[in-house]
Amino acid sequence: MIENIIVGGGFSALSAKLALGSTASFSILSHTLIKKNNLNLRRVRDFEVNKIFQNFAYSYAYFGNSEKNLYFHDRMIMGGHSNIWGGFIDKSTLSPEILKSLADMGIILSPINNETCYSSSSKGVHQLRDVNNKILDVKNFLTPDYDGHLVSLSFNGSFYRLGYIDNISGDLKILFSKKVILCMGLIQTLNFIIKNYNRDLVFALSEHNHSIGFKFSKKVEKIGDGFVMYYSLFSAMRHFLGIKNRLYFLDSFSNLFPIFIRQKYSDELSHLQFRFVKDSRGNLLLKRISGPEVFGTSIHYFNLRINNFSLDDFFKEYFPGIVFLGAGSIKNCNPGPISNYILNDAFEKLSHNVN
Ligand SMILES: Cc1cc2nc3c(=O)[nH]c(=O)nc-3n(C[C@H](O)[C@H](O)[C@H](O)COP(=O)(O)OP(=O)(O)OC[C@H]3O[C@@H](n4cnc5c(N)ncnc54)[C@H](O)[C@@H]3O)c2cc1C
Repeated sequence: MIENIIVGGGFSALSAKLALGSTASFSILSHTLIKKNNLNLRRVRDFEVNKIFQNFAYSYAYFGNSEKNLYFHDRMIMGGHSNIWGGFIDKSTLSPEILKSLADMGIILSPINNETCYSSSSKGVHQLRDVNNKILDVKNFLTPDYDGHLVSLSFNGSFYRLGYIDNISGDLKILFSKKVILCMGLIQTLNFIIKNYNRDLVFALSEHNHSIGFKFSKKVEKIGDGFVMYYSLFSAMRHFLGIKNRLYFLDSFSNLFPIFIRQKYSDELSHLQFRFVKDSRGNLLLKRISGPEVFGTSIHYFNLRINNFSLDDFFKEYFPGIVFLGAGSIKNCNPGPISNYILNDAFEKLSHNVN
């Protein structure tokens, strides 16, 4: 019998590991790289997000996206989105306990400044890096004990029974655990809900309004609200291509090309409501009920509600004590990075709360 099982291999799973602490007993169920033929799911290119210099990852789901201008992201691979992310985090919201646990694991919070070719309207924003000065990739910090895809979950009053498809053999295998921590990312959380529960549910998500533009000076202008990040042309190119190390040679040219990409998250929130419906060929599709014309470009959508219940409240009846981590379970956040909220949530839900 496993004490704690963490399902997922992205930043939320790493947050769970940090919050459980070094003395806790836990196992990790996640896919190294999902193999198409083992899951009876269809590939959804719409959700895939890949960059040239990082491993290609796929998205497979029970549902597709028929809506234009709705942007969701999914990477079924060890490390999840941290393979390709910016690693930005707001240090000012993290407790000394969290900062210590990051440092103990060899994770550095690197300030962003002229030298790093970024600037921001918030002094708290840092970049998560490893000891080789590369942007943090969770796959270098977590190893799955079970390489597979969670497909079912049940609770018998004392412990959980987890069914998963083994990534190598394609067989259905069973695990038993006293506690379950689900860190599957938003699309795969929806996938899990659709597979296991009544499909006639109304879902909702929120995001801070977001825009991208150009500027010809990296001086952060005084802005009334929200959060602004500037990327020099070279740092934006590095992100676009998925290059995780610093390219000092190119970075030093930055000042010669005073062109900056400005990313702005405003205080204003947009709310999206959607459901899943079958088309004439029987394919399940995500359908917008209400919300803005464009949703998801911020990448930091959060607070998943199901029939007006938060994830935690919706599942507490079926699965007492279950813990969800990730953007979907963040109820409120300021514009800007979301990783600090994921970490704080993990420590709130898990630390001092384990066997
Ligand atoms: C391009 C890009 C840049 C970003 N930059 C930033 C940034 O700078 N700062 C920031 O705060 N946020 C950023 N984000 C948002 C970022 O995605 C989140 O902060 C964070 O990485 C989410 O981690 P997660 O573990 O919740 O989900 P994911 O990264 O999606 O990881 C989910 C993991 O669970 C596994 N999994 C899924 N389903 C199952 C299953 N059924 N069984 C077993 N395993 C499963 C997957 O394989 C994956 O390993 C960015 C996102 C994108 C797309």
